[in-house]
Amino acid sequence: MNATIFIGLGHMGAPMARLHSAAHPTFVFDVVPAASEGLAADSEATAIASLEAIPADVDTVILMLPTSRHVEQLLVDDGLFERLPKGAVVIDMGSSEPQSTQQLAKTAGEHGLGYVDAPVSGGVAKAETGELAIIVGGAADHVAHAMPHLEVLGGDISHVGDAGAGHAVKALNNLLSATNIAAASEAATIGAKFGVAPDVFIDVINTATGMSQASQVKFPKHILPGTFASGFAYDLMLKDMKIAMGLAEQVGFSPVTTAAFETLSEGREALGERPDHTEVARVYEQRTGIE
Ligand code: NAD
Repeated sequence: MNATIFIGLGHMGAPMARLHSAAHPTFVFDVVPAASEGLAADSEATAIASLEAIPADVDTVILMLPTSRHVEQLLVDDGLFERLPKGAVVIDMGSSEPQSTQQLAKTAGEHGLGYVDAPVSGGVAKAETGELAIIVGGAADHVAHAMPHLEVLGGDISHVGDAGAGHAVKALNNLLSATNIAAASEAATIGAKFGVAPDVFIDVINTATGMSQASQVKFPKHILPGTFASGFAYDLMLKDMKIAMGLAEQVGFSPVTTAAFETLSEGREALGERPDHTEVARVYEQRTGIE
């Protein structure tokens, strides 16, 4: 039986690899050994301690790493492309840069390997239940290879184009998602200044046309209780917005999302170490003094 190696076991990768291991033979690896050992202890997965230990029958590699730099380092600089058997397919499920993905897919082809980008939306909660939205880019035969793996992890799976297209759509999704959080924070702040409590404001917006996933989920779960613990880092959201801004340069007119990007970028410094992405609401508190 062919096996999968799942690499990157952080906020998202750990619950995804756990589900994957219940359906397919799965080896797991993270640069932090405790992450792979901890996962192996409470799932069907088998931990490996280094890339040298990848079994010969691996035909699928799933990556859930922070950025394209980590993906390039692993596949090219650390030589994973060289190590994989011909015909294996690499599935990058992180939110990477579309141009880097296009280049890596080309290099994968030169090694006789397939390459699919399959970034996800839905956060840690949907990763735990296997209900992620998955946005797929890649050649049809590589995507067909990836499908049985993706079906374990997600509900809505959309194949949007060639390699890189999934990552482009994902970056644009997050640009929109972050802009919605900033816009809802802005409206709630203005409402609070007028005397309407933010929780009342958000409840009303959720019955009206101003609603978004920010008002329906992020405010009630993470922002209004002041916990800011969604499991998705502010810096990773900024990374995604920056990718989308790079794509926007080709168009030359993106005033709304550019303003949101600048708001999040300029607000970052005052938030301290490792803020959650929902802490954009705190940028508004800091800048206006209104809670
Ligand atoms: P994370 O920082 O929690 O996890 C990343 C993991 O990768 C860490 O465990 C780290 O040790 C490991 N790692 C780094 N370099 C490695 C290497 N060379 N080899 C093996 N392991 C390595 O990040 P996350 O929140 O799980 O996000 C991962 C990706 O998914 C990012 O691209 C992010 O933008 C995207 N994403 C995150 C969320 C979310 O809600 N957290 C949602 C959708 C998409």
